[in-house]
Amino acid sequence: MLAEIKGLNEECGVFGVWGHPDSAQLTYYGLHSLQHRGQEGTGIVVSDGDKLRVVKGEGLVSEIFTADVMEKIKGTSAVGHVRYATAGGGGYENVQPLLFHSQTGSLALAHNGNLVNANFLKHQLEGQGSIFQTSSDTEVLAHLIRRSGFSELKDQVKNALSMLKGAYAYLILTENELMVALDPHGLRPLSLACLGDAYVVASETCAFDVIGAEFIRDIRPGELLIINKDGITSEQFAFNSTKSICAMEYIYFSRPDSNIQGINVHTARKNMGKRLAVEAPIEADVVTGVPDSSISAAIGYAEVSGIPYEMGLIKNKYVGRTFIQPTQTLREQGVKMKLSAVRGVVEGKRVVMVDDSIVRGTTSKRIVSLLKEAGATEVHVVISSPPIKNPCFYGIDTSSKEELIASDKSVEEIRQLIGADSLTFLSTEGMVGAIVKTEGTNGFCLGCFTGNYPTEIYPDTLQYYYQK
Ligand code: SF4
Repeated sequence: MLAEIKGLNEECGVFGVWGHPDSAQLTYYGLHSLQHRGQEGTGIVVSDGDKLRVVKGEGLVSEIFTADVMEKIKGTSAVGHVRYATAGGGGYENVQPLLFHSQTGSLALAHNGNLVNANFLKHQLEGQGSIFQTSSDTEVLAHLIRRSGFSELKDQVKNALSMLKGAYAYLILTENELMVALDPHGLRPLSLACLGDAYVVASETCAFDVIGAEFIRDIRPGELLIINKDGITSEQFAFNSTKSICAMEYIYFSRPDSNIQGINVHTARKNMGKRLAVEAPIEADVVTGVPDSSISAAIGYAEVSGIPYEMGLIKNKYVGRTFIQPTQTLREQGVKMKLSAVRGVVEGKRVVMVDDSIVRGTTSKRIVSLLKEAGATEVHVVISSPPIKNPCFYGIDTSSKEELIASDKSVEEIRQLIGADSLTFLSTEGMVGAIVKTEGTNGFCLGCFTGNYPTEIYPDTLQYYYQK
């Protein structure tokens, strides 16, 4: 589904290069392939070994980095960022990477994720004299680094990271080092690759493919990588790390051509569809998926059920950027503009409509009615994930608890509200089993489904998400 009309939004993507003369250009291409992770702002910081330079702005990668701009930013290492703003809000000052200068050198920060103790740390730091330039939680790390008593940057960073709670994949660039850190639960994906002698880091492996980089490995939870002229070194800054990768990355956010923890996203989604066909067998004439992220699951459902897959819904790819749609009415208009039912496919047919999730329910309702208006005799909605009952505190904008339709409604109540003939959600065990092919649900964050979060959630964070 389309993030902007659904109510699920990824917060960010990061990309970094060390040791390549075209680092800025490579970062441009990398960020372009991560554009689905955030469309509100983007930036690149480049180092020529002597100085850091930043170019950033509110808009898409192709809008901010014109050919003229790219001509002016040259260097041998770079970090870049695409942002979807939630925590801290939007605005130019919050567009990353954030760049800080001090007497001992400069430091650029790019962050994917969300800290759950940012406000707590901010209050403490302000009490000690810090003045924040942005409302972004990312800036907290810079202050913690600079206030650390250690003399070496590596120790300052490790000390600062140990105070953070929540989800973070950080790229930290100085004049002569690139540091890469992942939170102790590995909530967000982050991988390492090489391009000749250069190193590349990205939120998703699709960004490696676009520049011809060769995947090396995923960054481990609680790991700090340091890349400089002497090569690459790895240290653990957290020893009680347990992997809890966000299940939503597989269900919805990541690109189907990316691999997360060695598992291809399209394959995982297709397996979810196959599992759904076993858990929710339905007598129908055609299976259709809601473009784009549900098509893989729909193909899987069709394969196992034996019901033909058809393109019953199409997306108009050339609709302008309508992603800021604060009211329900506007959101519904957005659906209308972007999706159409194919009358020739669905007329007179019993349709299985596969979607990846239901957030507020408004989108599902609209799509069911689109299919019925186009002549579908029955519309059976099957969802390739469990009901989203709880907010996310780790960088996915899932809306407040009150706005989540499954937080206080039964499956039958939701079915009635969206006007479907039947509604089935994939079980939690079925979803995880479809991704990893093992029993149990270890290794994943399932907080928005189960309410069990891998970290402590601070009271002011809870209040923010339950009332926003
Ligand atoms: S709460 Fe949900 S969206 Fe957030 S990190 Fe966990 S699985 Fe992902």
